[in-house]
Amino acid sequence: MARKVVTEQRVVEKVDYEIRRKSIVKEEPILELNNVEVVYDKYILVLKGLSMSIRRGSITALLGPNGAGKSTTLKAISGLLKLERGEVTRGHIRFNGENIENRDPLTIVRKGIVHVLENRHVFEELTVKENLVAASYLSPTGEVDFDYIYNYFPQLKLRENVRAGYLSGGEQQMLAIARALVAKPKLLLLDEPSLGLAPKVVDELYGIIKRINEEEGITILLVEQNAAVAFEIADYGYIMENGRIVLDGEISELRENEDVKEFYMGLKGSSRKNFRSAKYYKRKKRWY
Ligand code: ATP
Repeated sequence: MARKVVTEQRVVEKVDYEIRRKSIVKEEPILELNNVEVVYDKYILVLKGLSMSIRRGSITALLGPNGAGKSTTLKAISGLLKLERGEVTRGHIRFNGENIENRDPLTIVRKGIVHVLENRHVFEELTVKENLVAASYLSPTGEVDFDYIYNYFPQLKLRENVRAGYLSGGEQQMLAIARALVAKPKLLLLDEPSLGLAPKVVDELYGIIKRINEEEGITILLVEQNAAVAFEIADYGYIMENGRIVLDGEISELRENEDVKEFYMGLKGSSRKNFRSAKYYKRKKRWY
């Protein structure tokens, strides 16, 4: 009898979960890029009409080879382009229905978008705790909610008084993401969080990213070259090349796509090819 009750409870929870997920899908996207063009230094055209739609509450992966324009896309969203003499010269970026292209980075952070840059930017001379406090100007309350941060990163609590320069690569990446969480973002932009980390550390980090998404409802846009790890946690994926989206779809569909298997998963039938060699491979561009 007790067993039957538990089973029924599970069925109800599953139905609830499906209803919640479907209503998320039906909602307005949290972020839309519509035909966005980006130019650096007034004449270097990098994004050439890029369109994306990011579902609220999702994890979306943005994949592509070196130089495709992935980091530029994130900088266009967060406003950091300006610091590199870049500009959105055409199209729109809408966050919660409001145009935000070419706004200054602090205004964009205050709206709820936080960008964790490639290469784990932390203040190496400051301790873990001081790094978090230094991010408190981004917090809606002006303070750091340490319980909230350390719930996701218990390792950082253990290393609270250690200078960031002495942390391992994985811990520095955790600190970079923890600093972003101080701002209590609605949308987190992560640029290659797995870069240079050992597979075990990447697994741990991606587990935390998934928890943050599920438990806090924070939408995540994730740039990765390591498609396999991104596919583990993402719901939807975009693939870009040369400043444009060339393919997009649910992760379950992308996983089965032959081109994705060949160029991004390093697999094609029995022959294996890693991503680095795929980059130099003379491509059959079936996506155009
Ligand atoms: P990677 O994985 O190598 O970081 P990416 O897909 O993120 O590649 P971007 O860093 O966005 O690509 O670079 C896209 C193109 O824009 C490259 O050709 C790059 O040289 C150029 N670019 C990037 N930043 C600037 C800048 N500040 N000024 C001029 N050109 C730039």
